[in-house]
Amino acid sequence: MIFYIFDDNTFATRGYTWAMSLKPRPEEFSRRCPKCKAGMSVEYPKHSINLAVEGGSKYPDILGCGAETILIVSQNVINDWEGAGITGYEKYDVNIVEAKGKRIKDAEPPRYYHINVIGRAEYDMEAMGFKCQIICEYCGRIEVTNPNDKLHPLDPTIIKEGSWDGSDIFAMDITPRKTYCMEKVLFLAGINERTNFYFAPLELTGDVNFRGLDYRSMAKKMARNNEIPLQR
Ligand SMILES: [Zn+2]
Repeated sequence: MIFYIFDDNTFATRGYTWAMSLKPRPEEFSRRCPKCKAGMSVEYPKHSINLAVEGGSKYPDILGCGAETILIVSQNVINDWEGAGITGYEKYDVNIVEAKGKRIKDAEPPRYYHINVIGRAEYDMEAMGFKCQIICEYCGRIEVTNPNDKLHPLDPTIIKEGSWDGSDIFAMDITPRKTYCMEKVLFLAGINERTNFYFAPLELTGDVNFRGLDYRSMAKKMARNNEIPLQR
């Protein structure tokens, strides 16, 4: 099974606008644990959100967000996913309420959705060489320690055998906003030429090519070789 990490690619692409702020910021993001006072990153706003975008000249299919780590995709992407029966997520509406910037303010935004990833797997912490300690029993906050003194303790990502629940899109409990997917998600983005996706294979380490994989060429090659990773 081939897994990829995926995200928006706003730092390596050009011309796409991105979300600067949430209006208002959902209160789920501000909740604090009553015991340890840490932010409760496990709470996800399961409702529509409003965004202000800024800069750039066009709207991408996967919209980066500077205010919070949120996965935001266009209606086109949802159509691809629903058409192929992609599993492991819930979608909620996004309203673009403000567009700052000369070139973006008159552009018509696509319909966007923010994605709560519900598919799950677990890191193989031992194989990855880090330790994870529960700091607060009440909210489950953890601290990752790094006995090997690695620069990026979570790279390369190794999935614990038997822990993946079979979802096409998934995250790990301890890093719920870091999103992973199966090859068919990459294929759909590539073959349909969806813009601003970042994909990288799990075995890449910290100094990954920061542009990510050329998913469009990869998808075309899969199609040519009759290796389309979708169930029929
Ligand atoms: Zn706590």
